[in-house]
Formats: sequence, structure tokens, C-alpha cells
Amino acid sequence: MGLKRSRRVLRYSQVWECPACGLSGAVVDHLDRGVYRFGPFDIPYPEGGRVPVNRCANCGLIYKGLVPDPADLQSLFADVASEVWTSHDYDYHSEREFVMRFIGNKSSIDVLDIGSGEGGLLAAFDGIPGRRSALDVVRNDRCAQRVSGEYILQYLEDPLRWSGQTYDVVLAFDVMEHLYRAGIALFNLALLTRPGGFLLIQTGNASYVRPPSRLRDWWYLNLFEHHMAWTPEALACAAEPWGLRLEYAQVGPHKDSNHMPAWKRVGAGALRALRHVPGADRVSLALTSYDPKLVGEPGADDHFTAVLRCDEKSDGCDQLVKFKRAELASHFSASDSCNLR
Ligand SMILES: [Zn+2]
Repeated sequence: MGLKRSRRVLRYSQVWECPACGLSGAVVDHLDRGVYRFGPFDIPYPEGGRVPVNRCANCGLIYKGLVPDPADLQSLFADVASEVWTSHDYDYHSEREFVMRFIGNKSSIDVLDIGSGEGGLLAAFDGIPGRRSALDVVRNDRCAQRVSGEYILQYLEDPLRWSGQTYDVVLAFDVMEHLYRAGIALFNLALLTRPGGFLLIQTGNASYVRPPSRLRDWWYLNLFEHHMAWTPEALACAAEPWGLRLEYAQVGPHKDSNHMPAWKRVGAGALRALRHVPGADRVSLALTSYDPKLVGEPGADDHFTAVLRCDEKSDGCDQLVKFKRAELASHFSASDSCNLR
């Protein structure tokens, strides 16, 4: 394409404790990439290219020990927005089928999509009665047309400002790997999910890479906006203190794998809401020179979809307790009830 390249330096900060449960981890590998080529930019990795990859000793979350400043990351993505194809039609039929398997034959379901983007996933539930709501950082007019409930505009990791209503189904696809404060995000997801309701998560599966000392070779972890990688076990452990119980996990390729020829067509809307919008991965892949030496590739079985159920007996209905816990969540400490073997 003959892009004129320029150097771009991001600020990084260190991560001292597990972003999900707050306990400590151990370094299991280092990324070792030197320079990250992204669109027209050469972005040097910090610390001479060696980014520690940690594994939490309690919950098992894989997380980077150095993460880019969120504001730097956002402005970088904003600067490449013009190079990105601006719309994509995307079939969420299989997501709908998956959700309906768990919901059964309820006549009405209230759905909240986290990182709603243009509202494509919400649209997949057309024809099923119930409230449709969205959470994203930036308002999108197309999405707004799909919203019959509330449109929550904030980061998932910030204290929730919303109606206080809860949902039968909360969807968080391609969200969990972008987080900086995963514990708070899980807590907020628990607040949003109705007791007895479902939280569906799709994210990368760190178990795919064996042994962990090869994590440096996994394309997914080399995307610089991916700060962590989960396993179903880590998710189960980190979510449990908030009354979310893992009921089911299915390993498979990313939902985009049916669209491989279109992989490089990405949504510009994703650029503005990087941390929460399905599509950030597509953006990054489109602009990153793919290294064939990396482990796994788009379409590999290196993702999982998890279904978590909000505890019926959780204090989920008591808003006062919830808000108190929300305050405490910034200083949360983990349950140590799920030590790894
Ligand atoms: Zn942890």
C-alpha cells in the first residue's frame, strides 16, 4: 500500500496486581516484539519490547504487566479512523440462537448489549418482545433506533449510572480482553443482570496456548489493545464473588470466523469506543501486519463463549447494598475460594 510510516510512542503503565481479583500473579512469559506496526505507525513496545505476561495465582487470569495509557490508545485509534472501511453488515443470527437456547420459551426478554456499536446484535432480537438496551462509550444513531429501553453511555469499568433496572440477558462480546479493571467490570455486569438471568461473554481463550511460555506467540495477546486473556476457569473464579456462576462454556473460533474474506472490513464506529465495541479486534487486525509465525490465526479455536447465571439469592434486588458495594469495588479484595490447582 506504500504507507508513509512514522514513529508513535505510547505511554505505558505497570500492572501490579490481578485486574480481576486484586491478588498477585507471577510472570509466565514476555512478549518480545520490538516494534508494533499499526497502520502508518511504528509503535515501539515499552521496556525495549519485553512486556511481561502474568498469570494470577488465584483466579488464573493472564494479564500483561504493562498496558498502554487508555487516552493514548483512543487517540491512536481515532487517528487511523479514516483508513478504515466504514460499515459492515454482520449476521448475529447464531448469537440469537445461542441466547434462546438458554432463555427457553419466555414470551418476553429484556436484553442489554455491552459495547453495542451500531446495534447489530440488538437487532438480532427483533420480533421478540421485551426491552432492548445498550451500553457504550459513544452514542450511535443507528443503535439508538434499536433501543427501546435505556442507552447507557459510559465505560463498563466506571461506577454505573443507569436506571437501576436489571436484564434477563446481558451480552458482553469482545469486551473482556480490553479491560483495565476487570473486577469492577464484573461487578457492574452482576448489577445489570437480573437474579436468575444470564450473562453471556465471548473472549479469547488463554488455555488454547500450551504451554503458557508460548503465550508470546499467540496473535491475540500481541494485539496491543488486549490487556488480558481469560479461561473459562478464570472467569468462573473472578465472577463468583459477585454472584455470577459459570453454567456453560463452549470453546470455538471467534464469531467472525464465518466472515473470513471480510476480515479486513471493519467498523469505524469501533474506533471511538475501543474498549467496549465488538469490532476493535477487527480494526486492529486490519491495520496490523499479520505475522505468520504467530500461534493461532483468525478462525482458530482460541475463543470461548461463557454463560453465567446471576444467583437467584444474591442481594441483587437491594439497590442500596449494590451501590455500597459499587463504592467498595474500587478497593475490592478477592475471594480466595477458588485457588488453582
Ligand atoms: Zn486474579
